[in-house]
Amino acid sequence: MATRRVVLRFPQQLIDEPIISTTIKTYDLDFNILRAEITPASEGLMVIEFSGQDKPLNDAIRHLKKTGVKVEPIGLDVVRNEGRCTECGACITICPTAALYIDLESRHVYFDSEKCIACELCVPVCPSRAMELTF
Ligand code: SF4
Ligand code: SF4
Repeated sequence: MATRRVVLRFPQQLIDEPIISTTIKTYDLDFNILRAEITPASEGLMVIEFSGQDKPLNDAIRHLKKTGVKVEPIGLDVVRNEGRCTECGACITICPTAALYIDLESRHVYFDSEKCIACELCVPVCPSRAMELTF
């Protein structure tokens, strides 16, 4: 069983289509919607976790892309403004996936975008406003 967390962007003409439910059924996947912003007059955005067997999971992602949905790795949409980060460490304990962590030897605070699930918890706790959303 594999899991894949991705950001899906739906162009306006696809917003009313049952793309996700069809994809889930066709490729026998489980899913968990982490965030969704869909307004009829503009692009739709969904942060979603798919679970399933490797091949069907990859086929489902390919299928989504073919239908016109833009599929992005999840970490691309939360970034750390390195110029603003003071490495104060206030974000470390609140991050549920340890995407923000401290190297105990060097005392540097790092951001691993591959682990980030875009939960946004770090955004309000950062005193320097270094964590930025690019949705
Ligand atoms: S809270 Fe903000 S300034 Fe402090 S370490 Fe985290 S990202 Fe950097
Ligand atoms: S958005 Fe959530 S998962 Fe990503 S770095 Fe911030 S607290 Fe961690």
